[in-house]
Amino acid sequence: MSIHNRYDVIIIGGGPIGLACGIKAQDAGLSFLILEKGCLANSLYNYPQTMTFFSTSERLEIGGVPFATILPKPKRAEALEYYRRVQEKFALPIQLFEEVLSAEKDGDEFKVKTSKRTYLAKKVIVATGFYDVPCLMNIPGENLAKVRHYYEDPHYYANQNVVVVGASNSSVDAALETFRKGAKVTMVVRGDAISDRVKYWVKPDVENRLKAGEITAHFNSILTAIREDDVDIQLPNGKTISIANDFVLALTGYQPNLAFLKKLHIQLSDDTALIPQYDPKTMETNVPGLYLAGVVCGGMNTHLWFIENSRVHADQIIQHITTGNT
Ligand SMILES: Cc1cc2nc3c(=O)[nH]c(=O)nc-3n(C[C@H](O)[C@H](O)[C@H](O)COP(=O)(O)OP(=O)(O)OC[C@H]3O[C@@H](n4cnc5c(N)ncnc54)[C@H](O)[C@@H]3O)c2cc1C
Repeated sequence: MSIHNRYDVIIIGGGPIGLACGIKAQDAGLSFLILEKGCLANSLYNYPQTMTFFSTSERLEIGGVPFATILPKPKRAEALEYYRRVQEKFALPIQLFEEVLSAEKDGDEFKVKTSKRTYLAKKVIVATGFYDVPCLMNIPGENLAKVRHYYEDPHYYANQNVVVVGASNSSVDAALETFRKGAKVTMVVRGDAISDRVKYWVKPDVENRLKAGEITAHFNSILTAIREDDVDIQLPNGKTISIANDFVLALTGYQPNLAFLKKLHIQLSDDTALIPQYDPKTMETNVPGLYLAGVVCGGMNTHLWFIENSRVHADQIIQHITTGNT
């Protein structure tokens, strides 16, 4: 692939939706380049290794390429294989391990600075997702090496005292898997129950493990301090207990890189949702020529957008770029 420094469109982010935008730009005959700071489909690569999508495979398809899987819901490894094959099939130009640092308007064009070089582009699409910035608990000890905001594989935690913070899909998967590899698991949950958003076939499993006393859960409770050998948990009655602990899996959610969006001069809503400003018909932001695509659109409401319902952004954006219409 030859690299130029001037393009019709630069797409920031080589996840499913960045790739979908690339396919549509290619269909429209635009010159374009995808810039990805990590590996191809970097967010998916960093998902738990055994993760199963809640979507059925056809809902994750892009570019009309069938996503064939044996079971209805694909595993992480199948999705990685699929998106890699899609990128290969369309020969989508992509620069990996090249982070975009800024995109400043310079006359009619954007000057896009990366960790490696500078490009010029008439339009820029921001498809940067929400998986790079974990939501922190901001408690003492959170910076210890034993605290993980990403969970990879259960075997690492065999015979260990593990605290899992949260009761969403990621937390429940981690609690069940590490329990089944011999960890002593304690869940610390701010709410009063396992989240209703937990995959419907997983929820009864964790609830039954709690009922059987195989996994302990403290509901309406918060983790207040982490030390090398133990942690403090504040219970609903206001009392604090300390329990022995080797690892904390703080799977408390993720948020888009809001500092990056601000640097691009994208306005955020002034409520706690911090939703970036864009026209829902065209996906153009308050910065003319700068578009948003994919799950980054939800701001702090990361449950609003998925691959399933945001792959359509690619059509909307490229249609607006090529015709000025929606
Ligand atoms: C554990 C988990 C399970 C999920 N399961 C499902 C599911 O079953 N079904 C579903 O539809 N959705 C699911 N989602 C939600 C959503 O589909 C994913 O977040 C998906 O990856 C979103 O695609 P995207 O292309 O918008 O963003 P991402 O896949 O996050 O892609 C963004 C890319 O941008 C790159 N990037 C970020 N900043 C820069 C920069 N400055 N320069 C260059 N590159 C940058 C990142 O490295 C990343 O590769 C899940 C999310 C999580 C976290």
